[in-house]
Amino acid sequence: MKCPVCSAAMVEEDFGGVKVDVCRQGCKGIWFDWMELEKLDENNEGCGKALKEALNWQRVNDEGRPPVDCPKCGLPMHIHIYKSSKEINVDECYKCGGFFLDSGELKLIRDNTMTDEELEVYAESLMSDVPEFGKAQQDLVKMKRRNDAIRNYTRFLRASYYITGR
Ligand SMILES: [Zn+2]
Ligand SMILES: [Zn+2]
Repeated sequence: MKCPVCSAAMVEEDFGGVKVDVCRQGCKGIWFDWMELEKLDENNEGCGKALKEALNWQRVNDEGRPPVDCPKCGLPMHIHIYKSSKEINVDECYKCGGFFLDSGELKLIRDNTMTDEELEVYAESLMSDVPEFGKAQQDLVKMKRRNDAIRNYTRFLRASYYITGR
């Protein structure tokens, strides 16, 4: 798979049970398949040398980096703040549910978790700013029910509670 930002070849790595693709030769961005990032977004989860190393990479993101296309689907990805993190912009593909993180963003996500109140305010603003976001989340929930292969079910439901308003 090619890095959506710099086009270097990405290599598969294992962050302690979480499979990712890393742009090791290029910008050091990290690709997470659908639900893989969820497993890593809180402190003390995941392990291993590769993850430790990735958490030490410097942040290179350019807030102004233009949107990129999903390396899996080829569709434009959407830049938004990651669900529970302050001011960390991630790229999400609404089709396959994958995330691309620029170098350094994984650490920022783990270091900057929102409180429940902040999360609620943020989710509401996201719903009104980006109408397709709510729809996309609902589609993913449906896909998930069919799939039934997800471990972090309760945490995902909690996040989607705010997003879908159920
Ligand atoms: Zn890259
Ligand atoms: Zn995609």
